[in-house]
Amino acid sequence: MQPPESESEYEDPLERRQRDAQAQEARAQKAKRIRVGILLLILLGAGLAYLRIWLLENWTPDWDESQLVSVQILVPPNLDSDEQELLDELEAFTLASEGVASFTALDDWFLAEQQRYGVDRGGVSPVVLSVAAARPMESDPIAPPLGDEPFLERYQKTNEFLDFYAKHRTESPATNTIYLIFYRRSTHPEFAKIHSVADRRSRSGFVFASLDENGLETAVINISHELLHLFGANDKYENKSCKFPGGYAEPFRDPRHPQRFAEVMAQGIPNGPGQAETEVSSFGETRIGVQTATEIGWIDDAQRVRYYGGDLSAGPTLDEEE
Ligand SMILES: [Zn+2]
Repeated sequence: MQPPESESEYEDPLERRQRDAQAQEARAQKAKRIRVGILLLILLGAGLAYLRIWLLENWTPDWDESQLVSVQILVPPNLDSDEQELLDELEAFTLASEGVASFTALDDWFLAEQQRYGVDRGGVSPVVLSVAAARPMESDPIAPPLGDEPFLERYQKTNEFLDFYAKHRTESPATNTIYLIFYRRSTHPEFAKIHSVADRRSRSGFVFASLDENGLETAVINISHELLHLFGANDKYENKSCKFPGGYAEPFRDPRHPQRFAEVMAQGIPNGPGQAETEVSSFGETRIGVQTATEIGWIDDAQRVRYYGGDLSAGPTLDEEE
């Protein structure tokens, strides 16, 4: 004989439906919390990735220590004997002594410029370049995207461009890299129009130079320009003219024109309104202006404001008149 059902085991169908509905509601709530959680994680991930890129693109050195720069010289494959001779000249110029490579003149230029702004770290240059011996590329160099491509195409081309040069990099402890890329004017005339570029995320600058006598000096001017981009400086020309006052090395010179030097981020020597600017022929003719010095953190903004407000004592010391 079966025992009678106890009170407690009996369930009202209405209560059961309510209980099922509650359980269903709880499951739906849980699923919703999981979906929201996943969405928040994705957003957090995207936010962190964005922050990382922002930090990389807005980094400026604190200048407590020298900025180490590896210069990677890349040449086209299969050099002929004339080209090899040029390259030997270049290496004699850049490689100071056995096994020790340096672009000493550029290091000295950075040191002199920083000292003009009153910063003295016991004669230690703010920038120290080391040059890796020239290496042939696997193929002719590739050009950076022009910037007028649709977004996805530009993204793809930028990645191909960065990857191509990164795989040619020789190991170096330097955190900044300048690729000095030589091209043949005879087979790649299009490179003559290509401006050097800097990628702040990978702290890499790309300088293109023709594999001939002219190439080297232009290359050295462009190396300082691209390095300063990596350290936070912006271009200071507009429609191929130097902007005033930031693009002038001596904006308060009296009379203002002709200027004696080119501001390194403007790269022209202004001669007067409506007149063509003198092209820089040697990097000794370039100087770091007050706007650039502020952008790379050599002086603070209050000092920049005082200087452009007319207080010349807030600016750099000037080169003596010849
Ligand atoms: Zn530039």
